[in-house]
Amino acid sequence: MSEKFKLVSLEAADDWLVRLDKKRCPWCDGHNWVLRGTLKSEPTSTQAVAGLRSLPETRLYLLEDAVKAEITYGASGALPVITARCEDCGFLYLFDYFKVAELCHNATNPKADDHDD
Ligand SMILES: [Zn+2]
Repeated sequence: MSEKFKLVSLEAADDWLVRLDKKRCPWCDGHNWVLRGTLKSEPTSTQAVAGLRSLPETRLYLLEDAVKAEITYGASGALPVITARCEDCGFLYLFDYFKVAELCHNATNPKADDHDD
């Protein structure tokens, strides 16, 4: 591991995502994307980032040959995501906030030897 994870503001994450080569919507072939979906707090903050969505952790298991599931809604099982929504049909893409924050931070703070593989 290199350095501590740093929060990236939603505004910076949005700017970074918008610079990527965006594809047309796979559902309706539209090209009007809106990022984030919700914004509940100061978009420029890197001390606290709100307005993210989250996917809960899910555990599947077998019990007497039946598939059962447990879903964790607590923070420990959270996967924060940034949403990109097609304005023409509502199709959603989800981006892992942690990965976007890492890539966004690396793009704005280039360092030599920052590969962790
Ligand atoms: Zn669409």
